[in-house]
Parts: sequence; structure tokens; C-alpha cells
Amino acid sequence: MMDVFFIERDPYAPLRHCYPVSKILYEGKSEYQEIMVIESPHFGRVLILDGVAQCDEKFEFIYHEFISHIPLYAHPNPENVLIIGGGDGGALREVLKHKEVKRAVLVDIDKQVIEVSKSFFPTMSVAFEDPRAIVVNEDGYKYVQDYEQEFDVIIVDSTDPVGFAHVLTTEEFFRYVFRALKEDGVYVGQTESIHYHPDIVRRVQKSLKKVFPIVDLYTAVIPGYAGYWWSFSIASKKHPVRNPSREVSVQTKLYSADMHRHAFLPESFYQKLISGE
Ligand code: SAM
Repeated sequence: MMDVFFIERDPYAPLRHCYPVSKILYEGKSEYQEIMVIESPHFGRVLILDGVAQCDEKFEFIYHEFISHIPLYAHPNPENVLIIGGGDGGALREVLKHKEVKRAVLVDIDKQVIEVSKSFFPTMSVAFEDPRAIVVNEDGYKYVQDYEQEFDVIIVDSTDPVGFAHVLTTEEFFRYVFRALKEDGVYVGQTESIHYHPDIVRRVQKSLKKVFPIVDLYTAVIPGYAGYWWSFSIASKKHPVRNPSREVSVQTKLYSADMHRHAFLPESFYQKLISGE
């Protein structure tokens, strides 16, 4: 039998990342992007948007635990959370594990991603049924502009910063995020591989520093993403972010208070990375 691969073309780096394919489960095109679901040995089902892998059944928990629990535990009482993107539902599932959360609004521009996730990724999309979840299909860049002092935590779980997702990494957007956060709010966004996309990491960090008093970077190893060593940029209006501010009580596979602390890079390494030395 012939080996079949899905080859991801990185929009930024001269890089190809391969997933062996045992079956194509879904292929479609929404108003915004091409959507595909494959079955892959080692990864299980993989969601692919415009030719870029978004999450896989086997390792999605690492990405979703780290993008959610670090900002939510940095905040002492996250009652009101906004997720921009995240149409697969993985971040929503993790956010709603916090009993403090009274309302989680998920704003994904593409309704069809949510429908595909509900059909093919039941363990990831499970939280869409939670009564605290509110789903809005709109551009997150526009949505956030309508709010002032509204959210405790804003999570940007979007596709790579190209096309309609690019605006979510601009200084202008971060000013709207700052305004939409309460006086002690926390922001986080995924900022790609620190190995292959250091320019994106530096650009986002530079813009965040113009807007927020506290800016930092943490990382996690994610087997399904090109470069494996993935980064998250975090910014806070008031609370320090390198330690959980409450006792860690949610059920996770990997995240813990120790993992929270170790996810942050040592200060000297961080400074060198963002200065480009
Ligand atoms: N974990 C993923 C990754 O980085 O590979 C991200 C997963 S999630 C499926 C990304 C979602 O962001 C997509 O469903 C896409 O529709 C949404 N998205 C991209 N740009 C957006 C925007 N401007 N407003 C709202 N949602 C957006």
C-alpha cells in the first residue's frame, strides 16, 4: 500500500510539516476558508484550515490547557472570559473547568468550523452545550471594539496571523483588547514557533509592550505543530503572570502549578529571544 501524507506549507517559514494520512474524513469550503479533517496514525483526527493543521485529537490537550489555564490562574477571579477564534471548542472546554467562570463568550468568524468540530471532534467540542457558553459568529477584531472594562481574561486562539487573522496581532487590536479588559484583566494569544517564527514573536511582544504594563512569553512542546516548541504571549494590566494566583484545582492531563511556573522562559533567555540577539 502507498504511504499518503498531508504536507503542511508554512505561510512564513520555508518549511513543510508532514502528517501521515490513513483516511480523509471531511473536505469542505466555508465562506472564509477550506476545512479538512483527516485521520492520522500517531495524531488521531486532525483539523486542517487552509492547508494548516489546527489541532489533533491526541495532543490538543497540551495546547488548550496551556492557552487557557495560565491566564485563568494568573487571574484571581476570572468570571467573565472572551475567547476569540477557538472554533474547535478546546479552549472553551478548559476555560469552563474553572468554577469561577460565570460566562465564556466564544467569537469565531467561521460558523462552519464549529459545526465540523461538533461532528468530528466530540471530546473537544463538548463545552458548546454548557449553559455558561455564548457563541458569536463575528470577526473578533470588530467584536472587541464594542466593549470597555468588560472581561477578566481575553484569549486569542486564532489561526496563523495571515489573512483575516492578521489584525488580531496588531498594536491597534491590542489597544481594543486593553480597553475591553477590566482594570486587572489578562490577555493571551498564541504566537507560533519560537524556532521558526521568532519575527512574529518579537513583533507581537513589541506591540504588547506599547500597550500593557506587564508582558511575558511562555512556551509548550506541541507535537502536532511545526517546530514543536510553541509560544504564547501573555499581557496583564495588574497581576503578575509567572505564578498561579489561586490553588490549582481543575482536572488536567498536564497543566499544574509547577508546569505554570516552568512554562515561562528564564529572564535572560527571554530577553535575548525578544531582542533578537
Ligand atoms: N489552535 C489553533 C492553531 O493555532 O493552530 C487555532 C485553532 S481555532 C480552530 C482558530 C480559529 O480562529 C478558526 O476557527 C478561525 O475561523 C478563527 N479566526 C481566525 N481569525 C479570526 C477573526 N478575525 N475573528 C474570529 N475568529 C477568527
